[in-house]
Amino acid sequence: MTRLLIVGPQGSGKGTQGVRIAEAFGVPAISTGDVFRAAVAEGTELGSQVKAIIEAGDLVSDELTSAVVRERLSQDDAEVGFLLDGYPRNVTQVMHLDEFLEGRGEELDAVIELSVPRDESIARLSLRAQEQGRTDDTEEVIANRLAIYERETAPILGVYGARGIVVQIDGVGSLDDITARIISALEARGLNRSAAA
Ligand code: AMP
Repeated sequence: MTRLLIVGPQGSGKGTQGVRIAEAFGVPAISTGDVFRAAVAEGTELGSQVKAIIEAGDLVSDELTSAVVRERLSQDDAEVGFLLDGYPRNVTQVMHLDEFLEGRGEELDAVIELSVPRDESIARLSLRAQEQGRTDDTEEVIANRLAIYERETAPILGVYGARGIVVQIDGVGSLDDITARIISALEARGLNRSAAA
């Protein structure tokens, strides 16, 4: 069982690294942003509730987001553990996740903090905007998302830091180097890669 979070500003590469790390440790990578975008694309009720919020780069309500995560973590594939990307996004969501895990007698093993200088995140986001055409990658929305990260999300690292579970990783470098850095830092904490990976 391996239960991980990956936290970093937009453009830190946490989505890409999250998928790689989840694979290495044999757990599903669960991105709340991906869940919401899929719901919008499929035109589900959840999608219609969150579409405008995502497009503005604002946060979906804590209640709704935490309910979506609880449901996802209750699916069979998450019995072996999980890697959450993009959740919790603020201290209230940390409390919701704590309650949920406590109810199951579980706790997080590590929180991966991917650090990238602000200029570098902005440059990467602008590139992604050109390549993928995400509607929330316009300059104005990017600025809003980064401001929300600094104001609401960065403080969760203080909460997890006090528990001694934050693993800080320098997010500048090649994709492979960063993946290797994360894996060795997690192994140094006694977490084992899955035999299957
Ligand atoms: P992301 O791909 O993680 O940047 O998420 C894209 C968008 O989905 C965010 O800008 C928010 O609008 C929404 N979102 C994703 N995760 C959360 C969350 N944990 N809490 C609230 N909103 C979220």
